[in-house]
Amino acid sequence: MKPVGKPGRTGELMPVEVALARLLALAEAAPIRDTETLPLAACEGRVLAQDLVSTLDLPPWPNSAMDGYALHLADWTGEPLPVSQRIFAGQAPEALARGTCARIFTGAPVPAGADCVEMQENAQVQADGRVVFTQSLRVQQNIRPQGQETTVGEVVLPAGTRLGPIEQGLAASLGCATLEVIRRVHVAVLSTGDELIEPGQPLGPGQIYNSNRVLLCSWLTRLGCEVLDAGILPDDLPTTRQRLVELGDVDLILSTGGVSVGEADFLGIALREEGELALWKLAIKPGKPLTCGHYRGVPVIGLPGNPASTLVTFALLARPYLLRRQGVQAVEPLTFQVPAGFVWAKPGNRREYLRGRLEQGRAVIYKNQSSGVLRSAAWAEGLVEVREGSTLAQGDEVGFIPLSEVLG
Ligand code: AMP
Ligand code: MG
Repeated sequence: MKPVGKPGRTGELMPVEVALARLLALAEAAPIRDTETLPLAACEGRVLAQDLVSTLDLPPWPNSAMDGYALHLADWTGEPLPVSQRIFAGQAPEALARGTCARIFTGAPVPAGADCVEMQENAQVQADGRVVFTQSLRVQQNIRPQGQETTVGEVVLPAGTRLGPIEQGLAASLGCATLEVIRRVHVAVLSTGDELIEPGQPLGPGQIYNSNRVLLCSWLTRLGCEVLDAGILPDDLPTTRQRLVELGDVDLILSTGGVSVGEADFLGIALREEGELALWKLAIKPGKPLTCGHYRGVPVIGLPGNPASTLVTFALLARPYLLRRQGVQAVEPLTFQVPAGFVWAKPGNRREYLRGRLEQGRAVIYKNQSSGVLRSAAWAEGLVEVREGSTLAQGDEVGFIPLSEVLG
Protein backbone atom coordinates (compact mmCIF):
# COMPACT_ATOMS: atom_id res chain seq x y z
CA MET A 1 0.00 0.00 0.00
CA LYS A 2 1.50 3.36 -0.98
CA PRO A 3 0.82 6.34 1.25
CA VAL A 4 0.00 9.32 -0.90
CA GLY A 5 -0.06 12.93 0.15
CA LYS A 6 1.18 14.67 3.25
CA PRO A 7 0.35 13.72 6.80
CA GLY A 8 -2.43 15.90 8.16
CA ARG A 9 -4.38 15.61 4.93
CA THR A 10 -7.34 14.33 6.87
CA GLY A 11 -7.85 17.89 8.15
CA GLU A 12 -10.02 17.98 11.22
CA LEU A 13 -11.37 14.46 10.74
CA MET A 14 -10.71 12.27 13.76
CA PRO A 15 -8.62 9.19 12.99
CA VAL A 16 -10.28 5.87 13.84
CA GLU A 17 -7.67 5.00 16.48
CA VAL A 18 -8.19 8.32 18.28
CA ALA A 19 -11.96 7.75 18.37
CA LEU A 20 -11.43 4.20 19.64
CA ALA A 21 -8.97 5.32 22.32
CA ARG A 22 -11.44 7.96 23.52
CA LEU A 23 -14.32 5.51 23.61
CA LEU A 24 -12.27 2.95 25.50
CA ALA A 25 -11.25 5.61 28.03
CA LEU A 26 -14.93 6.44 28.50
CA ALA A 27 -15.70 2.74 28.94
CA GLU A 28 -12.98 2.39 31.56
CA ALA A 29 -14.41 5.37 33.43
CA ALA A 30 -17.77 3.56 33.69
CA PRO A 31 -16.93 -0.09 34.34
CA ILE A 32 -19.73 -2.50 35.06
CA ARG A 33 -18.76 -4.28 38.25
CA ASP A 34 -21.94 -6.05 39.30
CA THR A 35 -21.69 -9.77 38.89
CA GLU A 36 -23.93 -12.80 38.85
CA THR A 37 -23.26 -16.48 39.21
CA LEU A 38 -24.53 -18.55 36.32
CA PRO A 39 -24.67 -22.23 35.49
CA LEU A 40 -21.77 -23.01 33.19
CA ALA A 41 -24.02 -23.70 30.21
CA ALA A 42 -25.51 -20.19 30.46
CA CYS A 43 -22.13 -18.40 30.35
CA GLU A 44 -21.72 -18.23 26.57
CA GLY A 45 -20.82 -14.70 25.44
CA ARG A 46 -20.41 -13.45 29.00
CA VAL A 47 -17.32 -12.05 30.70
CA LEU A 48 -15.57 -13.78 33.59
CA ALA A 49 -15.63 -11.61 36.73
CA GLN A 50 -12.96 -13.43 38.78
CA ASP A 51 -9.79 -15.23 37.79
CA LEU A 52 -10.56 -18.89 37.26
CA VAL A 53 -8.05 -20.63 39.53
CA SER A 54 -7.52 -24.34 39.21
CA THR A 55 -8.45 -26.40 42.25
CA LEU A 56 -7.18 -29.55 40.54
CA ASP A 57 -4.15 -30.90 38.84
CA LEU A 58 -5.17 -31.67 35.29
CA PRO A 59 -4.92 -34.53 34.60
CA PRO A 60 -5.28 -35.46 38.28
CA TRP A 61 -3.04 -38.53 37.81
CA PRO A 62 -0.77 -39.84 35.07
CA ASN A 63 -2.84 -41.55 32.42
CA SER A 64 -2.36 -43.48 29.26
CA ALA A 65 -2.41 -41.70 25.91
CA MET A 66 -2.87 -45.02 24.08
CA ASP A 67 -4.58 -48.36 24.11
CA GLY A 68 -1.68 -50.70 24.94
CA TYR A 69 0.42 -52.02 27.80
CA ALA A 70 1.90 -50.30 30.84
CA LEU A 71 5.20 -51.59 32.16
CA HIS A 72 8.19 -50.78 34.29
CA LEU A 73 10.80 -50.22 31.62
CA ALA A 74 13.60 -51.84 33.63
CA ASP A 75 11.54 -55.10 33.66
CA TRP A 76 11.66 -55.37 29.89
CA THR A 77 14.70 -57.40 28.93
CA GLY A 78 13.31 -59.02 25.80
CA GLU A 79 11.70 -61.83 27.82
CA PRO A 80 7.87 -61.86 27.37
CA LEU A 81 5.95 -60.20 30.26
CA PRO A 82 2.77 -61.69 31.74
CA VAL A 83 -0.30 -59.40 31.98
CA SER A 84 -1.17 -58.90 35.64
CA GLN A 85 -4.23 -56.56 35.35
CA ARG A 86 -6.53 -54.84 32.89
CA ILE A 87 -7.15 -51.12 33.44
CA PHE A 88 -10.01 -49.31 31.73
CA ALA A 89 -10.68 -45.54 31.89
CA GLY A 90 -12.61 -44.87 35.09
CA GLN A 91 -10.92 -47.59 37.11
CA ALA A 92 -8.46 -47.30 39.98
CA PRO A 93 -5.57 -49.68 39.27
CA GLU A 94 -3.43 -51.63 41.69
CA ALA A 95 0.30 -51.05 41.79
CA LEU A 96 2.03 -52.89 38.98
CA ALA A 97 3.49 -56.22 40.09
CA ARG A 98 7.19 -56.32 39.24
CA GLY A 99 8.06 -58.37 36.20
CA THR A 100 4.58 -57.96 34.70
CA CYS A 101 2.77 -55.53 32.43
CA ALA A 102 -0.81 -54.20 32.56
CA ARG A 103 -3.27 -54.07 29.72
CA ILE A 104 -4.31 -50.40 29.66
CA PHE A 105 -6.71 -48.25 27.65
CA THR A 106 -6.65 -44.58 26.68
CA GLY A 107 -7.39 -42.28 29.61
CA ALA A 108 -6.95 -44.98 32.24
CA PRO A 109 -4.68 -44.20 35.22
CA VAL A 110 -1.16 -45.52 34.82
CA PRO A 111 -0.55 -47.89 37.76
CA ALA A 112 2.06 -47.02 40.37
CA GLY A 113 5.33 -48.63 39.42
CA ALA A 114 4.80 -48.31 35.65
CA ASP A 115 6.85 -45.73 33.79
CA CYS A 116 6.10 -46.57 30.17
CA VAL A 117 3.11 -47.34 27.94
CA GLU A 118 3.54 -49.08 24.63
CA MET A 119 0.77 -48.94 22.06
CA GLN A 120 -0.94 -52.22 21.23
CA GLU A 121 0.14 -51.99 17.58
CA ASN A 122 3.76 -52.51 18.76
CA ALA A 123 2.95 -55.43 21.06
CA GLN A 124 2.48 -59.13 20.29
CA VAL A 125 0.46 -61.36 22.55
CA GLN A 126 1.85 -64.86 22.57
CA ALA A 127 -0.24 -68.05 22.78
CA ASP A 128 0.49 -68.23 26.54
CA GLY A 129 -0.91 -64.66 26.98
CA ARG A 130 2.49 -63.07 27.65
CA VAL A 131 3.41 -59.93 25.72
CA VAL A 132 6.44 -59.07 23.62
CA PHE A 133 7.29 -55.54 22.50
CA THR A 134 8.55 -55.16 18.96
CA GLN A 135 9.96 -51.62 19.09
CA SER A 136 12.43 -49.88 21.35
CA LEU A 137 10.83 -48.21 24.40
CA ARG A 138 11.46 -44.94 26.22
CA VAL A 139 10.73 -43.94 29.80
CA GLN A 140 7.44 -41.97 30.10
CA GLN A 141 6.38 -42.64 26.55
CA ASN A 142 2.63 -42.44 25.95
CA ILE A 143 2.05 -41.24 29.51
CA ARG A 144 0.26 -37.96 30.06
CA PRO A 145 1.84 -36.71 33.26
CA GLN A 146 -0.18 -35.46 36.20
CA GLY A 147 -0.73 -31.66 35.95
CA GLN A 148 0.48 -31.38 32.38
CA GLU A 149 -2.41 -29.03 31.55
CA THR A 150 -2.65 -27.20 34.86
CA THR A 151 -1.73 -27.54 38.50
CA VAL A 152 -3.61 -26.50 41.65
CA GLY A 153 -3.49 -22.72 42.15
CA GLU A 154 -2.76 -21.76 38.57
CA VAL A 155 -4.84 -19.00 36.93
CA VAL A 156 -6.34 -20.80 33.97
CA LEU A 157 -8.52 -17.93 32.70
CA PRO A 158 -8.02 -14.36 33.89
CA ALA A 159 -10.91 -12.10 34.90
CA GLY A 160 -12.11 -10.24 31.82
CA THR A 161 -12.03 -13.32 29.60
CA ARG A 162 -14.97 -13.64 27.26
CA LEU A 163 -16.55 -17.02 27.64
CA GLY A 164 -17.38 -19.21 24.69
CA PRO A 165 -17.56 -22.93 24.04
CA ILE A 166 -13.81 -23.44 24.56
CA GLU A 167 -13.66 -21.59 27.87
CA GLN A 168 -16.84 -23.33 29.04
CA GLY A 169 -15.25 -26.67 28.18
CA LEU A 170 -12.08 -25.75 30.04
CA ALA A 171 -14.03 -24.65 33.12
CA ALA A 172 -15.96 -27.92 32.99
CA SER A 173 -12.70 -29.88 32.88
CA LEU A 174 -11.81 -28.19 36.18
CA GLY A 175 -15.13 -29.21 37.68
CA CYS A 176 -16.79 -25.77 37.72
CA ALA A 177 -20.57 -26.05 37.61
CA THR A 178 -21.05 -22.27 37.82
CA LEU A 179 -19.03 -19.17 37.02
CA GLU A 180 -19.21 -15.62 38.28
CA VAL A 181 -19.70 -13.27 35.35
CA ILE A 182 -20.26 -9.55 34.85
CA ARG A 183 -23.96 -8.81 34.68
CA ARG A 184 -25.39 -8.09 31.26
CA VAL A 185 -24.89 -4.58 29.89
CA HIS A 186 -28.28 -2.94 29.48
CA VAL A 187 -28.44 -1.15 26.15
CA ALA A 188 -31.34 0.94 24.90
CA VAL A 189 -31.51 0.86 21.11
CA LEU A 190 -33.14 3.83 19.38
CA SER A 191 -33.84 4.19 15.71
CA THR A 192 -34.61 7.66 14.44
CA GLY A 193 -36.38 9.01 11.43
CA ASP A 194 -39.86 9.73 10.10
CA GLU A 195 -39.08 7.64 7.04
CA LEU A 196 -38.77 4.42 9.02
CA ILE A 197 -41.42 1.80 9.47
CA GLU A 198 -41.13 -1.72 10.78
CA PRO A 199 -41.14 -4.83 8.58
CA GLY A 200 -44.62 -6.31 8.35
CA GLN A 201 -46.24 -2.94 7.65
CA PRO A 202 -47.04 -1.83 4.11
CA LEU A 203 -44.50 0.63 2.75
CA GLY A 204 -45.96 4.12 2.28
CA PRO A 205 -44.59 6.85 0.02
CA GLY A 206 -41.14 7.99 1.10
CA GLN A 207 -40.82 5.23 3.68
CA ILE A 208 -38.16 2.59 4.16
CA TYR A 209 -38.03 -0.38 6.46
CA ASN A 210 -36.05 -0.11 9.66
CA SER A 211 -33.08 -2.40 9.22
CA ASN A 212 -30.75 -1.05 11.90
CA ARG A 213 -33.04 -1.92 14.74
CA VAL A 214 -32.99 -5.66 14.28
CA LEU A 215 -29.37 -5.60 13.14
CA LEU A 216 -28.25 -3.96 16.37
CA CYS A 217 -30.67 -5.77 18.67
CA SER A 218 -29.61 -9.18 17.48
CA TRP A 219 -25.91 -8.26 17.44
CA LEU A 220 -26.11 -6.89 20.98
CA THR A 221 -27.84 -10.06 22.12
CA ARG A 222 -24.96 -12.08 20.68
CA LEU A 223 -22.59 -9.88 22.63
CA GLY A 224 -24.36 -10.83 25.85
CA CYS A 225 -26.12 -7.49 26.29
CA GLU A 226 -29.64 -7.04 27.55
CA VAL A 227 -31.42 -5.07 24.88
CA LEU A 228 -34.09 -2.56 25.62
CA ASP A 229 -35.59 -2.01 22.22
CA ALA A 230 -36.89 1.55 22.33
CA GLY A 231 -38.30 1.53 18.80
CA ILE A 232 -38.37 4.39 16.34
CA LEU A 233 -38.20 8.02 17.38
CA PRO A 234 -40.03 10.32 15.00
CA ASP A 235 -38.30 13.48 13.80
CA ASP A 236 -40.04 15.70 16.33
CA LEU A 237 -38.64 17.25 19.45
CA PRO A 238 -41.39 16.85 22.08
CA THR A 239 -41.85 13.15 21.30
CA THR A 240 -38.10 12.59 21.29
CA ARG A 241 -37.81 14.28 24.71
CA GLN A 242 -40.66 12.23 26.09
CA ARG A 243 -39.29 8.91 24.79
CA LEU A 244 -35.86 9.62 26.24
CA VAL A 245 -37.32 10.31 29.68
CA GLU A 246 -39.20 7.01 29.49
CA LEU A 247 -36.05 5.00 28.81
CA GLY A 248 -35.35 4.29 32.45
CA ASP A 249 -32.12 2.98 33.83
CA VAL A 250 -29.71 1.65 31.21
CA ASP A 251 -25.94 1.44 30.84
CA LEU A 252 -25.87 2.84 27.30
CA ILE A 253 -28.18 4.61 24.90
CA LEU A 254 -27.28 3.47 21.40
CA SER A 255 -28.97 5.35 18.59
CA THR A 256 -28.73 5.32 14.84
CA GLY A 257 -29.36 8.17 12.44
CA GLY A 258 -30.32 11.73 13.02
CA VAL A 259 -26.81 13.01 13.49
CA SER A 260 -25.79 14.05 10.01
CA VAL A 261 -24.71 17.66 9.97
CA GLY A 262 -27.31 19.97 8.55
CA GLU A 263 -30.36 17.92 9.33
CA ALA A 264 -32.91 18.64 12.00
CA ASP A 265 -31.13 16.73 14.73
CA PHE A 266 -33.96 16.21 17.19
CA LEU A 267 -32.30 13.44 19.11
CA GLY A 268 -29.12 15.52 19.43
CA ILE A 269 -31.08 18.54 20.64
CA ALA A 270 -33.04 16.52 23.20
CA LEU A 271 -29.93 14.75 24.46
CA ARG A 272 -28.00 18.01 24.79
CA GLU A 273 -30.78 19.62 26.82
CA GLU A 274 -30.04 17.22 29.66
CA GLY A 275 -26.49 16.20 28.97
CA GLU A 276 -23.40 16.70 26.96
CA LEU A 277 -22.86 15.44 23.49
CA ALA A 278 -19.86 15.68 21.21
CA LEU A 279 -20.17 15.26 17.47
CA TRP A 280 -17.13 13.57 16.05
CA LYS A 281 -16.34 13.67 12.37
CA LEU A 282 -14.45 10.46 11.88
CA ALA A 283 -11.94 9.65 9.19
CA ILE A 284 -13.91 6.49 8.42
CA LYS A 285 -15.96 5.41 5.45
CA PRO A 286 -18.68 4.33 5.63
CA GLY A 287 -19.41 6.34 8.74
CA LYS A 288 -18.07 9.78 9.58
CA PRO A 289 -20.58 11.37 11.96
CA LEU A 290 -20.65 9.78 15.40
CA THR A 291 -22.03 11.27 18.59
CA CYS A 292 -20.79 10.46 21.98
CA GLY A 293 -21.57 11.78 25.42
CA HIS A 294 -24.04 11.58 28.28
CA TYR A 295 -27.73 12.11 28.81
CA ARG A 296 -28.73 12.48 32.48
CA GLY A 297 -25.49 10.73 33.33
CA VAL A 298 -26.15 7.78 31.01
CA PRO A 299 -23.53 7.17 28.32
CA VAL A 300 -24.73 7.74 24.77
CA ILE A 301 -23.29 6.57 21.47
CA GLY A 302 -25.01 7.77 18.32
CA LEU A 303 -24.10 5.83 15.20
CA PRO A 304 -24.68 7.07 11.67
CA GLY A 305 -27.94 5.90 10.12
CA ASN A 306 -26.97 4.33 6.83
CA PRO A 307 -26.99 0.59 7.48
CA ALA A 308 -23.46 -0.13 6.25
CA SER A 309 -22.22 2.82 8.34
CA THR A 310 -24.09 1.51 11.36
CA LEU A 311 -22.49 -1.88 10.85
CA VAL A 312 -18.92 -0.62 10.45
CA THR A 313 -19.01 1.87 13.31
CA PHE A 314 -20.68 -0.64 15.61
CA ALA A 315 -18.12 -3.30 14.73
CA LEU A 316 -15.06 -1.10 15.14
CA LEU A 317 -16.10 1.35 17.84
CA ALA A 318 -19.25 0.47 19.78
CA ARG A 319 -18.47 -3.23 20.15
CA PRO A 320 -15.02 -2.63 21.68
CA TYR A 321 -16.57 -0.01 23.96
CA LEU A 322 -19.21 -2.47 25.20
CA LEU A 323 -16.65 -5.19 25.82
CA ARG A 324 -14.33 -2.82 27.67
CA ARG A 325 -17.22 -1.73 29.93
CA GLN A 326 -17.23 -5.38 31.04
CA GLY A 327 -13.47 -5.44 31.62
CA VAL A 328 -12.40 -7.23 28.44
CA GLN A 329 -8.88 -6.25 27.42
CA ALA A 330 -8.64 -7.73 23.91
CA VAL A 331 -11.43 -5.77 22.28
CA GLU A 332 -10.02 -5.14 18.84
CA PRO A 333 -10.66 -7.66 16.09
CA LEU A 334 -7.78 -9.51 14.48
CA THR A 335 -6.74 -7.95 11.18
CA PHE A 336 -5.01 -10.11 8.63
CA GLN A 337 -2.79 -8.77 5.86
CA VAL A 338 -3.80 -10.21 2.52
CA PRO A 339 -3.01 -9.29 -1.08
CA ALA A 340 -5.54 -7.03 -2.73
CA GLY A 341 -7.45 -8.53 -5.63
CA PHE A 342 -8.56 -5.09 -6.78
CA VAL A 343 -7.12 -1.71 -7.66
CA TRP A 344 -7.62 1.39 -5.54
CA ALA A 345 -6.50 4.35 -7.60
CA LYS A 346 -7.94 7.31 -5.75
CA PRO A 347 -6.56 7.98 -2.28
CA GLY A 348 -9.26 9.08 0.16
CA ASN A 349 -9.06 11.21 3.28
CA ARG A 350 -11.02 8.65 5.30
CA ARG A 351 -10.12 5.06 6.15
CA GLU A 352 -12.30 2.83 4.05
CA TYR A 353 -13.83 -0.39 5.30
CA LEU A 354 -14.90 -2.04 2.11
CA ARG A 355 -17.15 -5.04 2.28
CA GLY A 356 -15.12 -7.82 0.74
CA ARG A 357 -14.33 -11.48 0.45
CA LEU A 358 -11.31 -13.66 -0.02
CA GLU A 359 -11.07 -15.30 -3.41
CA GLN A 360 -7.99 -17.45 -4.04
CA GLY A 361 -6.40 -15.75 -1.05
CA ARG A 362 -6.98 -12.23 -2.38
CA ALA A 363 -9.36 -9.62 -1.07
CA VAL A 364 -12.06 -8.69 -3.54
CA ILE A 365 -14.77 -6.14 -2.89
CA TYR A 366 -18.49 -5.92 -3.47
CA LYS A 367 -19.41 -3.96 -6.57
CA ASN A 368 -21.47 -1.35 -4.73
CA GLN A 369 -19.85 0.14 -1.65
CA SER A 370 -22.57 2.72 -0.95
CA SER A 371 -23.16 3.16 2.78
CA GLY A 372 -26.85 2.52 2.20
CA VAL A 373 -26.24 -0.94 0.74
CA LEU A 374 -26.38 -3.53 3.50
CA ARG A 375 -26.38 -6.28 0.92
CA SER A 376 -22.66 -5.57 0.45
CA ALA A 377 -22.07 -6.84 3.98
CA ALA A 378 -24.30 -9.88 3.56
CA TRP A 379 -22.20 -10.82 0.52
CA ALA A 380 -18.96 -10.09 2.34
CA GLU A 381 -16.81 -12.24 4.62
CA GLY A 382 -14.92 -9.32 6.02
CA LEU A 383 -14.03 -5.66 6.05
CA VAL A 384 -11.17 -4.68 3.77
CA GLU A 385 -9.25 -1.83 5.35
CA VAL A 386 -7.81 0.77 3.00
CA ARG A 387 -5.95 3.36 5.00
CA GLU A 388 -6.48 7.05 4.39
CA GLY A 389 -4.25 8.56 1.73
CA SER A 390 -3.43 5.20 0.15
CA THR A 391 -3.65 3.67 -3.27
CA LEU A 392 -3.50 -0.03 -4.04
CA ALA A 393 -2.27 -2.04 -6.97
CA GLN A 394 -3.23 -5.67 -7.47
CA GLY A 395 -1.27 -7.79 -5.00
CA ASP A 396 -0.48 -4.94 -2.55
CA GLU A 397 -1.09 -5.89 1.06
CA VAL A 398 -4.36 -4.78 2.56
CA GLY A 399 -5.97 -5.34 5.97
CA PHE A 400 -8.81 -7.86 6.22
CA ILE A 401 -11.03 -8.12 9.30
CA PRO A 402 -13.21 -11.23 9.12
CA LEU A 403 -16.81 -10.43 10.01
CA SER A 404 -16.74 -13.51 12.22
CA GLU A 405 -14.22 -11.62 14.38
CA VAL A 406 -16.71 -8.90 15.20
CA LEU A 407 -20.12 -10.51 15.01
CA GLY A 408 -19.88 -12.41 18.27
P1 AMP B 1 -29.73 10.17 9.04
O1 AMP B 1 -28.41 10.13 9.74
O2 AMP B 1 -30.88 10.12 9.97
O3 AMP B 1 -29.80 11.28 8.06
O4 AMP B 1 -29.80 8.83 8.19
C1 AMP B 1 -28.88 8.58 7.15
C2 AMP B 1 -29.50 7.61 6.20
O5 AMP B 1 -29.67 6.36 6.86
C3 AMP B 1 -30.84 8.00 5.65
O6 AMP B 1 -30.91 7.57 4.30
C4 AMP B 1 -31.80 7.22 6.49
O7 AMP B 1 -33.02 6.95 5.84
C5 AMP B 1 -31.03 5.94 6.73
N1 AMP B 1 -31.43 5.32 7.99
C6 AMP B 1 -31.44 5.91 9.19
N2 AMP B 1 -31.86 5.08 10.13
C7 AMP B 1 -32.13 3.90 9.50
C8 AMP B 1 -32.60 2.65 9.95
N3 AMP B 1 -32.88 2.44 11.24
N4 AMP B 1 -32.76 1.67 9.04
C9 AMP B 1 -32.47 1.90 7.74
N5 AMP B 1 -32.01 3.06 7.27
C10 AMP B 1 -31.85 4.06 8.13
MG1 MG C 1 -32.78 10.67 10.00
